[in-house]
Amino acid sequence: MGQSSKTTIAHVCTFCGGPVELEGNEIIAPCGNCGSMLRLIPRSAMESFLIEGDLPRREAIFFLEREQKKRGLPLMGRKGEIEKVYLPFYRVTGKVYNFRKKIIEHIAASEDGQEYRYTSEEQESTLKDREMSFPAFDGGAFGIESLGVRTSVMRLLPLTSGRIGDRKFVAIKHDLNYALQRYEKAIEGYERFALQDTAINYSKVLCPRISAVYLPVWIINFSLDSKPYYGIVDCVAKRAVCVEEGMFACRDLELETDVKGTEYKMVAHRCDHCGFDLPRQRSGEMFICGNCGHMYCSEGEKYKALQINLARGDHKHNRLFPFWMFRLRNSDQAGIIKKALVFDSDTIFIPAFEISNLKRAARLALSLSRAVDEIDFDRLDESDYNFVAACIDSERAWKMALPYLLAGKDNLEHLDLDSLWRLYLEYDDKQLIWLPFIEEGYFYRGLTVGLGFEKTALVI
Ligand SMILES: [Zn+2]
Ligand SMILES: [Zn+2]
Repeated sequence: MGQSSKTTIAHVCTFCGGPVELEGNEIIAPCGNCGSMLRLIPRSAMESFLIEGDLPRREAIFFLEREQKKRGLPLMGRKGEIEKVYLPFYRVTGKVYNFRKKIIEHIAASEDGQEYRYTSEEQESTLKDREMSFPAFDGGAFGIESLGVRTSVMRLLPLTSGRIGDRKFVAIKHDLNYALQRYEKAIEGYERFALQDTAINYSKVLCPRISAVYLPVWIINFSLDSKPYYGIVDCVAKRAVCVEEGMFACRDLELETDVKGTEYKMVAHRCDHCGFDLPRQRSGEMFICGNCGHMYCSEGEKYKALQINLARGDHKHNRLFPFWMFRLRNSDQAGIIKKALVFDSDTIFIPAFEISNLKRAARLALSLSRAVDEIDFDRLDESDYNFVAACIDSERAWKMALPYLLAGKDNLEHLDLDSLWRLYLEYDDKQLIWLPFIEEGYFYRGLTVGLGFEKTALVI
């Protein structure tokens, strides 16, 4: 539970029907057949997926018999009703901010060989991807409480209208709020369990996303010594997950009568100006053509040309990294946060590319925020620059503002994190800007204001 997802989601190429596989939350990938770069149009409704797992009925019976044998039970007698259904799960992915204070106990020896103990204190802020799943159906008769570790390896098929066919989908009983609440509770419990030695532990869920995932199972009724039994066989794990006394009346099972699935559209991901494919990047809305340097943001199926904001100077030999620059709205709320966190700038920079280590990302963001007056910006109209893809859209970037401000401080113990989070922070203006860095050993050094950040901190 809880590791970052490597889920593969399989789509179909609009041009040739070939396979397009997206990892995790990616929306851009090349077709495995014709090589066209494609972008998945962001969906408004909740997405639904199927897990691949085409287990034939006779194999399901075999797996159930194997389970009986393992438990030292006699094999099933007469078989009754057998039915394959799809169970709905909510899959929630999100980022979790975590602050903890650890008391560490040390054992040392004094000069005369006596052992003594002392404690020290450590504060740590982290930001991690967490994924969890919960049953969206009613009742525990199926013996499956979560999709488990499968969520990190499985292949999901988008539930399009073509894939609904005559499959039987068990009705969804809980709403999205239920999924969110369970996610938040599970995160809390998980963090607490993982950190039993911590004195203070605070967790906050950021940008959660919910989708529905349907898992195929076989329901097998049989009799043993003339008593009725039923078994549930998980088609993906290929094993019996539950054998119970009694009869499972498949006819009484509440099925979804009006499954709509999700409609997806894939569009060509290429430059309007020169026709070259735009870069593959995980997500986001800003793209730069590697051939002619034109910059675009996506608007549904279309691409809109944008101007590039760049730190002034000749940076043709450097790598240009994207940042969101937010101008904080001057409000009482902002005043309280700025005072509590001793942050005196009206501008906050958030990297628009992935940096895995929160502390390093925050250090970079805050030093840029404080040095903003020293940076002059220009509009760029030439190509020939070495741009790093902007993968984080402004909405997600803005959610990072408070975690970054917090991670930039060494001591959070005296702060009431919950009440800080309840303050509603707003911005007046946002801009995507690009700052030049040169590679120097294991570091990148910022040219504009003499900033460096570790190369190992970057995951691009
Ligand atoms: Zn194709
Ligand atoms: Zn181009």
